[in-house]
Amino acid sequence: MVKCSICKEKLQELFLEKVKGTIVKKPGESKQYTVCSDCQKKFKTKDELLQNL
Ligand SMILES: [Zn+2]
Repeated sequence: MVKCSICKEKLQELFLEKVKGTIVKKPGESKQYTVCSDCQKKFKTKDELLQNL
């Protein structure tokens, strides 16, 4: 089960294993973070998003 890296909510999985949300990376890190669509709306810029991971 995939969880949002910010709010820890479980992400809804759609067909073809697509997740409702997005995947972001911190600069210089190979680790991927999943972020739900709600948190994407909450944090308007990618920088804001990354700061809350
Ligand atoms: Zn979230």
